[in-house]
Amino acid sequence: MIWLAAAYILPAFAIAVQSMQTNQQLAQTSVVLGCFYLFGLWAIAQGMAQRSGGSAYPKIALLISLVALVGLYYFSQVVDDLHVRMLILNIAMALLVLLGVAAVYRGQKSADLFERILRGSYLCFVAYSLIRPLVIAIAIEQGPSVELTQSPMWLLMLAANLLLSLWFIGVLLVVTFREVLLTLKKERDLDSLTHLLNRRAFFEQAPVRIQRSRNGLWALLICDVDHFKQINDTLGHAAGDEVLRSVAKVLLRNTRHTDLVVRLGGEEFVVLLNCDSLQCACVAAERMREQFAEVRLAMGQKLTASFGVVVIESAQQLQSAINQADALLYLAKKTGRNKVVSAPVADEPAGQLVSA
Ligand code: GH3
Ligand code: MG
Ligand code: MG
Repeated sequence: MIWLAAAYILPAFAIAVQSMQTNQQLAQTSVVLGCFYLFGLWAIAQGMAQRSGGSAYPKIALLISLVALVGLYYFSQVVDDLHVRMLILNIAMALLVLLGVAAVYRGQKSADLFERILRGSYLCFVAYSLIRPLVIAIAIEQGPSVELTQSPMWLLMLAANLLLSLWFIGVLLVVTFREVLLTLKKERDLDSLTHLLNRRAFFEQAPVRIQRSRNGLWALLICDVDHFKQINDTLGHAAGDEVLRSVAKVLLRNTRHTDLVVRLGGEEFVVLLNCDSLQCACVAAERMREQFAEVRLAMGQKLTASFGVVVIESAQQLQSAINQADALLYLAKKTGRNKVVSAPVADEPAGQLVSA
């Protein structure tokens, strides 16, 4: 974003200064203001390339700029030729702004609608920059030599610049505003310690997930680390935090992107699992439980956790499913911890102990 800001400020400053100058003054300032134009135009390319995860070839840009600046110096200090200077500057600017196209093209696939509009606008700007030297060359052929800044061609270019810049800045503002909103929403929805979804996001996203899925059954797993207070007390709060991160990793490793993994609070986690039976959910929970034992605690201690597992068929059941899973978790704690306890199904007895 800093590049795109530079892309506006630098050429705008140069245009403002030049618009107040006579042809003679233009010659004196051409190299300095040329730097502003050249860097500003490359900044557009660099800003856009960075948005696509690439770069706008800084070394090539430096080379183009140096050649252009030498040309500007020669045609202002040795031979004073305004038209050649304009051609040199505009050709160099066109080449510089072109340097971001490859990165933008490569990043095309990952772009959403707003980003595509921004990229389209950039490509229009590139096209305009490529046409401009041609227009200048034709105008030089035909036009009488009046003060450049009063000539119709200069005014026309200023108008085109203004329109394109206004459009570009409008699109950029919308895209930036949207990015800020998305970042804020992400921060609001994520738990800062584990980067899992938080409770708020869970109650927002879980009903939508369940309603939208066409392929059937969901299971709700509540998982609570055993004797976590003891871990904190003996190993320290920072080690406790690390354990919570490890728990999050185990849960994520055993789920798919269609599932939701949530830190409900403290050392309690919820997984909304898209699976076709209670048994499949219990197998998943069992796998997680076994993998917790691999988390290294001090002095060979093993990390253990207890699970309550229920199936859930509709979004309306969400709260009652949580209550039920919580009750099963309580049962797991009461009957020795480090186990998965599932909900009763049809003719099976309540509180079936799957494993211990
Ligand atoms: P049980 O086996 O019955 O679940 O016992 P427990 O010790 O795991 O449960 P308890 O509710 O007694 O203690 C939970 C502890 O988790 C208390 C609290 O200080 C700690 N805790 C909550 N949030 C965090 C956190 O973000 N980081 C750390 N390190 N500790 C936390
Ligand atoms: Mg606990
Ligand atoms: Mg707890």
